[in-house]
Amino acid sequence: MSDQENKIRCSFCGRSSHEVSSMVAGPNVYICDQCITDASGIVQSDLTEEKTKQQDFKNNLKPVEIKAYLDEYVIEQEDAKKTLSVAVYNHYKRISSPEFLKDDDDAEIEKSNIVLLGPTGSGKTLLARTLAGIIDVPFCIADATALTEAGYVGEDVESILSSLLQAADYDLERAERGIVYIDEVDKVARKSDNPSITRDVSGEGVQQALLKILEGTSANVPPKGGRKHPEQSFITINTKNILFICGGAFEGLNEIISRRLSSSSMGFTVDYQDKFDKDDPKIFTYVEPEDLQKYGLIPELIGRLPIISGLEELSDEAMIDILIKPKNAIIKQYKKLFRMEGVELEFEEEALKEVVRLAMNRKTGARGLRSIMERSMLEIMFTLPTMKNIERCIITKDTIVSFAPPIYKKRKASA
Ligand code: ADP
Repeated sequence: MSDQENKIRCSFCGRSSHEVSSMVAGPNVYICDQCITDASGIVQSDLTEEKTKQQDFKNNLKPVEIKAYLDEYVIEQEDAKKTLSVAVYNHYKRISSPEFLKDDDDAEIEKSNIVLLGPTGSGKTLLARTLAGIIDVPFCIADATALTEAGYVGEDVESILSSLLQAADYDLERAERGIVYIDEVDKVARKSDNPSITRDVSGEGVQQALLKILEGTSANVPPKGGRKHPEQSFITINTKNILFICGGAFEGLNEIISRRLSSSSMGFTVDYQDKFDKDDPKIFTYVEPEDLQKYGLIPELIGRLPIISGLEELSDEAMIDILIKPKNAIIKQYKKLFRMEGVELEFEEEALKEVVRLAMNRKTGARGLRSIMERSMLEIMFTLPTMKNIERCIITKDTIVSFAPPIYKKRKASA
C-alpha cells in the first residue's frame, strides 16, 4: 500500500482508505462510505421529524385556529365557519383515538355529518374547498346530481369513494378517515314530504344510497380510476369513520322556514313576525330538521345529518369585501397581474359598487363577480401590454357600465 493511500483518511471518522470500502474526496476533505450512510440516516430522520411536526400541527389545530384560517378566505358566514371548525376538530379527535371511541358507559362517539344550506354563491363550496387546504385528511368533493343521472345507484356511491381513495393516494386507512363534501344534495329531495302524493322515486332512491354510505357501509371500489379489467380486484372501503358534509341551495326552503316561524310566533307582535319574512337574508340560519323533511329529504337521512348550518345571503357590503379582502381576492389578483406589467391598478369605489350591483342582478350571489370583472377588464388586459409608459390605471364606474376606457396616468419622462 502506498504512503499516499495511507494518508487518505475520512475527515469524519478518521478511518484510512484501506479500512473502508470507498472514500469520496472533496477539496481537502474525505468522507467514507460508512459516514455517508450515517449522515444520510440523520438527514432522513430530521426530514421525517419535520414532516411529523407539520402533520401534528395540522392535527392539533384548535377550532379557533381552523376558523381563523377560514376567515382569511371566506367573508361572513360566521355560523357555518364555526360549525365546520368544531366538526373538523371533533372528527380529528374521533379518528385519532379510536380506543376512546367508547367511554366507560360504552357510549360510542358518533360522527356528526353536516349539512350546509344557503343561497347559490354564498360560499358553501368555497368553505369546503378552503377546509381542504388546512386539514390533514384526504378530502374530495362529489356532486349528488351525478347520482341521479346514472340511475345505477351502487356504481355511483362507489364513484364518490373512489375519488376519496384517489385523494388519499390509495392509502385505504387514510381514505377511511377522510372527509367528503357532497354538493347539490337538495337536488335529490323528493318533491313533497308526503310520499303518497307526488313521489319522486329516483330522488328517494339516491337518498337511500346516500344514507347507506353516511351511516357506514363497506363498499367495493375499483383500485384505480374506473374498472378497466373485469378481473381487477376491488378495494373494500368502510365509510363508518368518513365525515360527510352535504351542501345545497335548497331553493324554496326559505318559504318553509318562514311559514313555520310565522305560525309558531302567532300571538307575538307584528314586528316579531316580520322578522320571519321569507326574503330575510338570515332566513336559512333559522332552519330546523323538520323543514328539511318538508322540503323532501327522508327522515332517516336527516337523522344522519345532525349538524345543520345555514349560510346567509350576502349583502352588498359583503360582496364588496369579497372583491377586495380574501387572501386571493379577485382585485388582489388583478393588481398583481398589472404590477407584473409595471402598472399600479386602482378601482374607484363607484366602480366596485357597480360590479356588485350587476352581480346582485344575476341572483347568483358572489358567483357572478368574477365573470363581470373579467368582461370589464378584457379590453384593458388586451391593450395594456403594448401601451408605453403607463404608471397607473384607474377603473371607473363607466369602465364597468359601458366599457369606457379607464384613466391612464403616464410615467413622467426621466430627465
Ligand atoms: P355555493 O354556495 O353555491 O357553493 P360557492 O362557494 O361556489 O357558492 O361560491 C362561488 C364563488 O363566489 C366562490 O368561488 C368565491 O369566489 C365567491 N364567494 C362566494 N361566497 C363567498 C364568501 N362568503 N366569501 C368569499 N368569497 C365568496
